[in-house]
Amino acid sequence: MNIQSNTFSLATAGILSTFLMVNSALAEFSDEQLQQAVDEAYEEFKDDDSGKNADYIPILTEVPSDLFGVVIATRDGKLFVAGDIDYRFSIQSVSKPFTAALIMQQQSPDAVKENIGVEPTGMPFNSKVALALYEQRSVNPMVNAGAIAAVSLVEASDEEERWDLILKNMEGFAGGELEILDEVFESEYSSSASNRGIANLLLNDGRLYADPEESLRVYTMQCSLGVNTRDLAIMGATLANGGENPVTGDRVLAEEHVPELLAIMATAGFYDESGEWMYSAGLPAKTGVGGGIVAVVPGEFAIAAFSPRLNEAGNSIRAMQAISHISGKLGVGVFGANPN
Ligand code: GLU
Repeated sequence: MNIQSNTFSLATAGILSTFLMVNSALAEFSDEQLQQAVDEAYEEFKDDDSGKNADYIPILTEVPSDLFGVVIATRDGKLFVAGDIDYRFSIQSVSKPFTAALIMQQQSPDAVKENIGVEPTGMPFNSKVALALYEQRSVNPMVNAGAIAAVSLVEASDEEERWDLILKNMEGFAGGELEILDEVFESEYSSSASNRGIANLLLNDGRLYADPEESLRVYTMQCSLGVNTRDLAIMGATLANGGENPVTGDRVLAEEHVPELLAIMATAGFYDESGEWMYSAGLPAKTGVGGGIVAVVPGEFAIAAFSPRLNEAGNSIRAMQAISHISGKLGVGVFGANPN
């Protein structure tokens, strides 16, 4: 009896320690390992000059295409960096999950689901077809239609307050002041016929919750915010840290809402390449046509990268490569280690 119970407890201890070992191997990386992963990703992809800057927003063609930065920000606020991490570029669609977070925080995750939708469209970021197909459940806050709807859904008494709430929220995630890049705003707002069309289609379908021009303008201001790669990494690290900014200690999103937000990023963060992205990198992430991408390793850290040259889907080629590489190298894909 004694022997049996000893055998049992030894076996149990063995299983338990194996489990703990696996977990701690996944959960803990030395500073050297993280810096090495960042350096390696930077070196490996820095010479790739495939793709081209976004040009449907004219000023984005003027951003130097060779810029490339990679940053890991951990949930306790440590940064590991390589390349052009201080260059300020427009956040564009990387802003979208953070305004969805604002609605979750100000109202509820159901407000996002019911008034915008959480269904991936499998279509380009500016698709109007997706809107026509999914009239009843709309789309999701990661594509233009859902993001313009999200801006309109923020509870505010006027345009100034709407912008103020969105800006303060974005700054809460970044842990510092952010400013609009005026030239980007002018360039985008004066060429936003497509997004204006989307705002009016939403209005027509009863899926816009404020004046269409106000919604479009504030959405364009949001997309024109200047950030550097470090800012993006801290914004992601705030999600990795359960909604509390690791630098300022401010809570910007209730911990219980983080999984819902990450779920939308995982299924729709890369537009019509979201499946391929999860297949190769295995991380919830958001991309923008300014060349920035932020990916989240829940409970651990964020990986941000910036490089202006995009592929056909509007996603930054070197930023995708760098983040996928780091995910594979450290084995942190949410479904298990992906090959790097
Ligand atoms: N401001 C851009 C637009 O509305 C965002 C697109 C993106 O970054 O994917 O087209």
